[in-house]
Amino acid sequence: MICPKCGLTRSKLDALSRRNNKTMICSPCGLDEAMFDFTLDQAVNRKKLITEVEAEILRHNEKTWLTGLPTSPIVLVSDDE
Ligand SMILES: [Zn+2]
Repeated sequence: MICPKCGLTRSKLDALSRRNNKTMICSPCGLDEAMFDFTLDQAVNRKKLITEVEAEILRHNEKTWLTGLPTSPIVLVSDDE
């Protein structure tokens, strides 16, 4: 069967996508999603590397395989002006 996220042929799809809690994906993609969520949470809440707005754009882009929506560029806005 073909994983809808990575497009690779897998013997089984045994991970539930965290993006909609209904689409089955392959185990490596499931791990990717978990690591993505963990890393993003760290970047926003713990290390304050990016803002919640930037994180929302990254979340949007990370699930375009599921939504079919175009990806969005992150536009950084300086506070200095
Ligand atoms: Zn996959």
